[in-house]
Amino acid sequence: MAGPVAALINEFSKLPTVGPKTAARLVFYLLNRPRHEAQSLAEAILRVKDRVRFCSVCHCLTESDPCDLCTDPDRDAATICVVAEAKDVYAIERTGAFKGRYHVLGGLISPMDGIGPAQLHVKELVERIGQQSPHELIIATNPNAEGEATALYLSRLLQPLGTKVTRLAYGLPIGGDLDYADEVTLAKALEGRTTL
Ligand SMILES: [Zn+2]
Repeated sequence: MAGPVAALINEFSKLPTVGPKTAARLVFYLLNRPRHEAQSLAEAILRVKDRVRFCSVCHCLTESDPCDLCTDPDRDAATICVVAEAKDVYAIERTGAFKGRYHVLGGLISPMDGIGPAQLHVKELVERIGQQSPHELIIATNPNAEGEATALYLSRLLQPLGTKVTRLAYGLPIGGDLDYADEVTLAKALEGRTTL
């Protein structure tokens, strides 16, 4: 099949989690919507590509440099949350539970993929700690092999600098059932128990 419909289905199919069926549904949905809706979608995509860049302080995505998170006076500069990717900042922001600053590493240590500390924004983090001497660094990397290796590496590197280094707790999902939790999660939750 050729033509503009097939071309757009093909473009949508390249997006993560979108298969050919969903891509076709999106295209037929758009065909039934007014032109201005398609235009705002197209413009929003281009705006992201043209205007969004990385903050020179925290390496999060931003339109202005430094970003709003780095310049907001209501956010606590003494607490820095270290995450792997910019999308993790959005995940933590959605909780509304953190009012500090961030540092995006730009990935995780993964020797198999040839990614070491030099490929990540680790040097910048050390420089930032030297300049701002924060009270606490919260390592918020994923609880998988790469996330653990990165957290361990960072704690060894940063603890001598005199900053308290903490790690997100491992736990059971809220509303979950002990019966259904896997052994590793349950063992970690037991290890990371807190006083009531
Ligand atoms: Zn920033």
